[in-house]
Amino acid sequence: MRVKVTLACEECKNRNYNTMKNKKNNPDRLQMNKYCQHCHKHTLHKETK
Ligand SMILES: [Zn+2]
Repeated sequence: MRVKVTLACEECKNRNYNTMKNKKNNPDRLQMNKYCQHCHKHTLHKETK
């Protein structure tokens, strides 16, 4: 049930993080507030395919 997902910054669209999620616990698209090295601040990161 665990799948690999990529988290991309919503502001610069850079793919900054790879993580795992449990499809059963998180069936929807993941959203996390994380530090973006390109924006030099915390931004919203969303799951991409
Ligand atoms: Zn960014």
